Amino acid sequence: MIYHSTQDKTQSVSSAQAIAQGISKDGGLFVPERFPQLTADELKAMLAMSYQQRAKLIIGKYLTDFSEKEISDCVDNAYTAEKFGGENPAPIASVTYNGDELNLLELWHGPTCAFKDMALQILPHFLTKSLQKVGGGKEAVILVATSGDTGKAALEGFRDVEDTKIIVFYPVNGVSAMQKHQMNTQEGGNVYVCAINGNFDDAQTAVKKIFTDPETAAILDKNGMMFSSANSINWGRLLPQIVYYISAYCDMVNMGKVQPGEKINICVPTGNFGNILAGYYAYEMGLPVNRFICASNSNNVLTDFINTGVYDKNRDFYTTVSPSMDILVSSNLERLLYTMSGSNDVETKGYMDALKSAGRYEVSDSIKEKISALFYGGYADEDATKATIHNLFEQERYLSDTHTAVAVAVCDGYIKATGDKTPVVIASTASPYKFSKAVLEALDKGSLPESEFDMVEQLNELTGAPVPAPLASLRGKTARFSDVTDKEDMQGVVLNALGIRK
Ligand SMILES: *Cc1c(COP(=O)(O)O)cnc(C)c1O
Repeated sequence: MIYHSTQDKTQSVSSAQAIAQGISKDGGLFVPERFPQLTADELKAMLAMSYQQRAKLIIGKYLTDFSEKEISDCVDNAYTAEKFGGENPAPIASVTYNGDELNLLELWHGPTCAFKDMALQILPHFLTKSLQKVGGGKEAVILVATSGDTGKAALEGFRDVEDTKIIVFYPVNGVSAMQKHQMNTQEGGNVYVCAINGNFDDAQTAVKKIFTDPETAAILDKNGMMFSSANSINWGRLLPQIVYYISAYCDMVNMGKVQPGEKINICVPTGNFGNILAGYYAYEMGLPVNRFICASNSNNVLTDFINTGVYDKNRDFYTTVSPSMDILVSSNLERLLYTMSGSNDVETKGYMDALKSAGRYEVSDSIKEKISALFYGGYADEDATKATIHNLFEQERYLSDTHTAVAVAVCDGYIKATGDKTPVVIASTASPYKFSKAVLEALDKGSLPESEFDMVEQLNELTGAPVPAPLASLRGKTARFSDVTDKEDMQGVVLNALGIRK
């Protein structure tokens, strides 16, 4: 399997190279040259498999320069019952909401309590092996821009991993108190965390720039280092996410909720378009999907895009109760456009250039048609999000986090508007305890205590939902990191953190 750049097809690399490098030299994203197909027989055989076995089969179709044993080691070290609280790291909880059955695929049972763990527990294993193949003995510097959950999940995944260093930037006012506490207390000898004055898009743009800057690359090279990425632009992040959609389908069959071959709908609370894109890739591999429901918060640039074919980031930016979706530049959409344009790198580059220069582009009629045939876009504002947390708890005693609530609200709206009764799987992306304040406000049960951990306790007493151990254990931990920088100074901060003098 060869990987091309979305913006320059003449760039073609192995999967190890794609993972080690993170992003293509021309600024494009690596995409597989084709989608390996899942046969009906394979899908049937997967029904009897564990999550880990399914993962090995699917990942093996893409990482063709890895041996079977290497893939097996990566999977077995990542998805342990100890780290994910059970044999199946991604269980399904079925609830009835406003009269319709919703199947919540809980992706947040990992060490940092967000779905990012599903990818970031295995990425360091992919990366270490990739570096052995193509790294030339260099140390990998992982540069991360985070809207909250990626940062912590990446820090935890890469902590004390040999021959790696990790640097995380987050928007100073753009993450929850728990997310900030999780990152600032991070342990490990190879980690550094810094807040930036700006929002997530500022952080992401600056990281991308540092990443593709030839001068910085040369400085690193002289010091025996190279950049790599743990953001969802890295192929090693997306690939493990394809697995849980296919695995969830198998579980839905095993639970008797769908017949083998019957289509499902998939609803995903979306920010950078990584999670939902992985579902789309599963569909391209042959997973029977009727429709993807793309759920946004008040930063509804994707809703408008799906409905009009115009992507326009020139709009107000909102800081919401679902901070991991506070994004106006959804990086992974580039990969969707590439596939839907018939792997047209020139066309894709045209859109991305327009985004860079004008903050706006309009896709071709052909892409518009393909998108509206397969995707539905909707959004939930702050009131709708909180009402959904409230109602879901009142109806089913099920406690949802703010991001998942956005998806539930949009999915419910879709079902009521269309009457589409296709069985639906909703990606549930975080533990409610990462966003205790907003969740408590939504439940509306009286005044809130001051401290984050008192809120956690109150939420637990009110609902009886267990507090994940990794969050409970943070109480009383002192912060190791408190630096804040301007986005213009991020390059200097990076070199400083690496102990390099220009
Ligand atoms: C990252 C994140 C999202 C958005 O996922 P994308 O892949 O960026 O679309 C949604 N919910 C939570 C809790 C997240 O951490």
